[in-house]
Amino acid sequence: MPINKGAAPVNINNRKIINGGDADVMQLYPMKHLFAWDAYMAGNSNHWLPTEISMQRDIEQWKSPTALTADERKAFETVLGFFTTADSIAANNVVLALYKHVTSPECRMYLLRQGYEEAIHTHAYQYIVESLGMDESKIFNMYREVESIYNKDNMVLSLNEGIFADDFKTGTLESDQLFLENLCVFSLIMEGIFFYSSFAVMFGFQRQNKLTGSAEQIQYIMRDESQHLNFGVNMINTIKEEQPEVWSPEFQQRIIDLVKRAVVLEYTFATEVFPKGIFGMNAAGFKQYIEHIADRRLATVGLPAQYNVENPFPWMSEAVDLNKEKNFFETRVTEYKTGGQLSW
Ligand code: FE
Repeated sequence: MPINKGAAPVNINNRKIINGGDADVMQLYPMKHLFAWDAYMAGNSNHWLPTEISMQRDIEQWKSPTALTADERKAFETVLGFFTTADSIAANNVVLALYKHVTSPECRMYLLRQGYEEAIHTHAYQYIVESLGMDESKIFNMYREVESIYNKDNMVLSLNEGIFADDFKTGTLESDQLFLENLCVFSLIMEGIFFYSSFAVMFGFQRQNKLTGSAEQIQYIMRDESQHLNFGVNMINTIKEEQPEVWSPEFQQRIIDLVKRAVVLEYTFATEVFPKGIFGMNAAGFKQYIEHIADRRLATVGLPAQYNVENPFPWMSEAVDLNKEKNFFETRVTEYKTGGQLSW
């Protein structure tokens, strides 16, 4: 690029989430997509590390022959089996697919933060597995051996293949819809649905005062994930405004169908985790919970509810409410606004 002494500053009216053209991806200012900067700043003030959370009680309970039932152990292992690879899939999607095609520098700033957070999440699972002396090769390999985990991961990975291709480029209706589909699959389904029965399991343990260190790790992860989801939804809705042609009725139906497919995979997974039910959560409750969550995800991008069911686990809403004042889980931290100043 030759020097250009009379160059005009970037025209932010040309700045777009994708297909931003000559809006320079290296020139952060002036910003257009302020939600991305807000998310970046919030992510920084929520910073945490897995090693800051004590796992001592979990270690004692995991080693005790009586503290946990066989069903509880299986549920915990299966949930970790999903978690351990899910955030690696998420990180790959952010770094190897989304980042390359996003032309808004402020969105790229948040994607960098998000990529690091996905690494912290994978670290958290590794830390739990290591602290409890679990069989790493078994847990980290479960996505290939346990059908209900494999089916979820496979849905996300196979749908994302297109935008991972070396020759993939945005800029045609077809490719922009493929990009937007990736964003919907990744945000609404992977981060918005596929994590949630596993979150519910972990908070179920916490409500029984079991494995509370692990649950606290997951509580931090869930805060980050709801921010990732919000950011994804903001990108989806902004692309809809910037390029309304991509959000065609056919495309909307495509997303609804994918969400419905994901709901079935997710409650099939939940049934495998809890074949007999546990902590007052049974297969029917999970099905309804996942349907409830799916309707909420659809609503965030302006798509109609498909299930219209009540939330059977209202305590989960309290766990996800980012602005809750009260210390719901009576752990040391439920507010993440001043991460740097937390005393452990
Ligand atoms: Fe995430």
